[in-house]
Parts: sequence; structure tokens; C-alpha cells
Amino acid sequence: MVGSVPVGGGSPISVQSMTTTKTSDVEGTLSQIYSLYGAGADIVRCTCNDADAAEGLARIVPRSPVPIVADIHFHYEMALAALEAGVACLRLNPGNLRKPEEIKLVAREAKSRGVPIRIGVNAGSLHPDLYKKYGTATPEALVESALYELSLFREVDFDDVKISVKASNVPLMIEAYRMLAEVTDAPLHLGVTEAGPPPAGLIKGTAGIATLLAEGIGDTLRYSLTADPVEEAKAGRQLLEALGLRERQGLDLIACPSCGRTEIDVIKVASEVQKEMEKLNLPIQVAVMGCVVNGPGEAREADLGIAAGKHKGHLFIKGKIVRVVPEQDMVSELIREAQRLVDEGVEARLAAADESAAREAELDRAELLASKGADANNSETKVELIRKRLANKEDA
Ligand code: SF4
Repeated sequence: MVGSVPVGGGSPISVQSMTTTKTSDVEGTLSQIYSLYGAGADIVRCTCNDADAAEGLARIVPRSPVPIVADIHFHYEMALAALEAGVACLRLNPGNLRKPEEIKLVAREAKSRGVPIRIGVNAGSLHPDLYKKYGTATPEALVESALYELSLFREVDFDDVKISVKASNVPLMIEAYRMLAEVTDAPLHLGVTEAGPPPAGLIKGTAGIATLLAEGIGDTLRYSLTADPVEEAKAGRQLLEALGLRERQGLDLIACPSCGRTEIDVIKVASEVQKEMEKLNLPIQVAVMGCVVNGPGEAREADLGIAAGKHKGHLFIKGKIVRVVPEQDMVSELIREAQRLVDEGVEARLAAADESAAREAELDRAELLASKGADANNSETKVELIRKRLANKEDA
């Protein structure tokens, strides 16, 4: 348990992030913690690097909506002070908090207070002996660092741990976690460290974390992005929702990539919908489709959607057309329907459908098909042209 949040043992995978404020700035840090909580973080880590930070933690912990983890580097005294402040967990870096007696002292104190510790190994800050032994950060070196720390904890009969073996190199991180999962049952905290700014940072984080989660490895996670930490919390939450590992908490917007069939700017409409829907924060899947020819069918699994065509918006619920509205009103009508759908339920909203809407949509669909044909992207015409040109060349 990290405070009230269970980690491991089949409990839901939790999302973590870390504040970027000075921990001594109590109001600023709390404000960021609330933003992270709102974005989907279950647990938040704050640095505890000096006495002011430790005092800040004492003021932050009782007012935080989520359990707080203190991040400790170099100074065991800061770990003891953070425990005094009432944190729900410590993170120790075995690469820079190295004296066995100090580590055991912290473990003893954590044990007496019932506080867990994360052994947070980082490929960039391994113990110098491990660099010497392995030449560089290897999966074996990362795992050895974690197991050594674990052995020190065992000497004082402390085993309330979770472990991370992060690296910014994705294959290295994946391999290290795989090796670790073979040798320990301790909950694992996943992350690709120093992944950088989005979108590349998001891709690196997802490549590492999702690969392991798909193999059944990992109990809690953090994206390490060079961005507002709210982006980390959002990414963590969205990844778990996309993998079906956590229930949807907010919007899932799907949108077609658009093609020659569409008569609207799908990118613009989709971003307008996203902006408006995020204000409502409703846990539904909404589709924005460029045309009524294929849109409602392709997005039939969505709770709600809109498909454009003939200067109209065709509003559909679970693939069934329920209303046809003027194109300029399609976003506002979609938002209104989203709220009603959540308030009244799918059955009620399907029952309230405009009976003539499906017929009108069918006519629009037929007309669009007739005017643009089945080859709206002109692919077949182009293929014909290419064939003709190539045939002429051969003849020549
Ligand atoms: S066929 Fe219609 S729904 Fe599919 S990509 Fe093209 S515009 Fe979008």
C-alpha cells in the first residue's frame, strides 16, 4: 500500500507523476498535485532534497488528495525527515545513497512506521562498482543493483518494497524489467527515464511501458516527460485506458483520418470537439467522422458520433442516426447530446431519436455515393492512368 493506493498483488495499475515545483513552496506544490490528481495521477512524488523541502512535505502531506512519495538522493537524513513528515512512501536511489548502514537505518525506520520503499535504480546513476564490473549500464547491472539493495533490507527484516530499473534506452529498460520479473515477486514500478519532450518522449515511454504491461509485467508506472507533469499523468491514464487496464475516466475521442470523401475540415472539427468535451469531462467515446457514407458504420462502437455530408451533421448513437442538424451546429449539438447521453442513458436517447433522421441520412449517403462514386479518392482513375502510361512506354 502506498497510503490508500494498493500496488501489486492484482490491484489496478496505478499512475504516478512527479512535481516540478520546489517542495518548500507548499501552495505551489499542492496546486500542482491537485492538477496531477485531476489528470489521473493516483500517487505523486516530490523531491526531498533539503530541510526546507522536508518541512514543506510535513505541510503538504495532510492536504494532498493523493499519497505522497518522497524522492531521496544522497542524503539518508532527508529520508528520515520525510518519514517524520508523514510521507506514504520513500524512493531511494541505490546509486547515490550507498552506505549500507545508512540504508539499513532508513529501512528500519520505514518498517517501524509501516511505510514502503521503492528501490529506484536508474541506468544513469548506477553504483560506480557496477559500471566497473559491467563496463556500462546493462540489464544485469540494473538488476544486480536492485537485488543488492533488497539484500540490505532483508538484513533488517524489511520487505515492503517496490522496484524500478529505469533507463532512457528502451530496449535496455525492457530487458532489465524482464530479468527482474524472473527473480522477484515485488511490485514493479515501470518507466523510461528522461524520455524527453513529447511526442518522442511519449512514444519512448509507451514503447517501454506498454510492451512490459502486455507481458503482464508492472504494477505502477510513470511517464518521465520534459513537459508539464500533467502531461505525464494524462499519458499514464490514457495508456491504461487504451490497454483496457483501467476504466475510462474521461473522453475517448476517435476521429477518421479524412479522405477525398469529406466535405469538412475533420482535423479542425475534431479539435473543437476535443476542446469542448474536455470541459465536460464525460467518460464516453465520441467519434468525429468526415462523411456519412462510411462514418456511422465505421464508428458504430462509439457511444456517440457525428458524420458530415451535404452541409449537414448526422448525429449517431451506437451507429444509429438519431438526428440531422445543420453543419454549423454539428459541434454544439454533439456536445449537447453527450451531456444528455450521460444523464439519461443510451436507451432513452435512442428512444428519443428523430424517426426521419435515418431516412434523411440514407438519402444523403446515396446522393454522396452517386456524386462522388465509390472511388471518392480517385484511386482507380489514377491506377488506370498509370497503367496506360506504362503501356504506352512499353509500346514505344
Ligand atoms: S470515407 Fe468518410 S469516414 Fe472514412 S476516412 Fe473518408 S471521410 Fe472519413
